Amino acid sequence: MRSNAYSMRNEAREERKRQELATGLLSDRFPGVAGIVVTMNYGRGSRSAVLRTLNFYPGSHAFFRISCLSEGCDDGGLDLTNSIQRMIRGRETLAKGELRCGNNDPAIVHPDVDYKVAITYS
Ligand SMILES: [Zn+2]
Repeated sequence: MRSNAYSMRNEAREERKRQELATGLLSDRFPGVAGIVVTMNYGRGSRSAVLRTLNFYPGSHAFFRISCLSEGCDDGGLDLTNSIQRMIRGRETLAKGELRCGNNDPAIVHPDVDYKVAITYS
């Protein structure tokens, strides 16, 4: 059933893309935000830690549900939406925290992620 799993995964990816495109632009939703940099450290404490940096510009879609990168985990994700909205409301420039994937499927090993969000305002 390899091809079937593949097409389901593809569908999840398409769905994510649709959600991203349906989300307004950063400049429309959060005027005054010049940029957002999200730095993530996947696999806290393990030697296979992966560092990832995501940049959001005023022309980016304000979509902050980030893939957890685990094999087979397509409909989960690390959701920074609330944290980022809270930061912007309070005009905070730096926040740190930990995230867990929104997908609770025990068959998939999801990473623990340390994250840092830096926001600049215009
Ligand atoms: Zn996951």
